[in-house]
Amino acid sequence: MTDRLILRNATMVTGNSSAIGDLDIEDGRISGVWPGGKRQKWPAAREIDLRGKILMAGGIDTHVHFREPGMTWKADIASESTAALLGGITSFVDMPNTTPPTVNLSTLEDKLQRASRSSLVNYGFHIGATNDNIEQIQRYISLGLGTRFAGIKVFMGSSTGNMLVDRDSALEKVFGIHGKPILVHSEDEGIIKANLLDATEKYGENIPFSMHPQIRSREACIKSTHKALDLAIKYGTRLHVLHVSTAEEVEMLREAKKSNPLITAETSVNYLWFSDKDYARMGGKLKSNPAVKTEDDRRALIEALSDGTIDTIGSDHAPHLSEEKDRPYIICPSGMPSVQQSLPMAVHIAMSLGIPLTRIASAFSEKPASIFGIGSRGFLKKGCFADLVVIDPEGGQVIETPVYKCGWTPYEGVKPSCRVEMVWINGIRVVKEGALCSETGQSNPRQLRFLPTVSSIG
Ligand SMILES: [Zn+2]
Repeated sequence: MTDRLILRNATMVTGNSSAIGDLDIEDGRISGVWPGGKRQKWPAAREIDLRGKILMAGGIDTHVHFREPGMTWKADIASESTAALLGGITSFVDMPNTTPPTVNLSTLEDKLQRASRSSLVNYGFHIGATNDNIEQIQRYISLGLGTRFAGIKVFMGSSTGNMLVDRDSALEKVFGIHGKPILVHSEDEGIIKANLLDATEKYGENIPFSMHPQIRSREACIKSTHKALDLAIKYGTRLHVLHVSTAEEVEMLREAKKSNPLITAETSVNYLWFSDKDYARMGGKLKSNPAVKTEDDRRALIEALSDGTIDTIGSDHAPHLSEEKDRPYIICPSGMPSVQQSLPMAVHIAMSLGIPLTRIASAFSEKPASIFGIGSRGFLKKGCFADLVVIDPEGGQVIETPVYKCGWTPYEGVKPSCRVEMVWINGIRVVKEGALCSETGQSNPRQLRFLPTVSSIG
């Protein structure tokens, strides 16, 4: 039986417009979008009035660490995808630094299997580059297996297991890969090691957390990003620079994009909300890589989000247990969990600073879909899957315990102006009044397919 639904009078926000109107859904897909207009009555269709509410394509978070397999005491796909859903994220793409790391097809297939059993939202994975697996990744792409992973993650300078690509010859090879986006974690390991040694000599075991942005310094980010941008210009690479954290990198990206328009950049809400003033209050809870930097950096990143220099917002959801985050600096793991707060906090920041919500729709849905070739998702367009989020712009509540497994959030106690009220995945409503529901008794998440995009210039 056909399932028909009309969403009426919503403020529909896309990457380039905002208009009050109706949207209709049939059999899991958006079947019509009526900005400024009214969809006439439709036989057998249910209707929901969304007057005063914001309707956007569901969030696509292409930067999460769901810790499965290997660290499931911190998080797993079931727990974290539930949190994602409640935060308006309808699709996630998980990073490869699990145990074992996702650096070949068999580890990728294992994660796809796991997600097919337990994810509540649409799912996909990045594959990780190492000094030794680049030819193999290239083979996967030429065999047509590139639709099974989103992009190739390169840790340019931050040792995470064996995934550090630190040989220049290997880096050149990665940037020469055409056919998939190359994502970089960009910090120079040499600078960080030297800074850490200095801090250890000065403070011994008791390095204060406020030293974190001096240890994982802006110079480390700038040097590494400089190298990445140079390589991306040299090879015409589709480069996506992850979690940009400094004003200088924003400026470098603005310039580099003129030479290679396929260069894109991500930041996370953590860098738009926190600054180094917060280390005294939050200690290890604010420790992440790259480090949260200064107020000036925060302002530069907000401006870069406004003008489009920042293309996407990923949560960089990196859960650790509260007791792990309470450890002394050296043994305190880096990363903050935020998949449930990322979208509502971004909407809150935009609304409070007068940034048009079109920028949020672009950064959370349209750009991730375009960069990674996620077909038929990310847009409020006829024919797209009905992955939708409804936000009540005035329904915000104080953030309390999140549902993800580690059970804490750096945003605890913050009161955003808005809240995620409803979510549809593939046409099925799975969140109602801010809580889980399912009108058919189950959600129906799907594996994301990553279609070939324009992947290089020249
Ligand atoms: Zn990350």
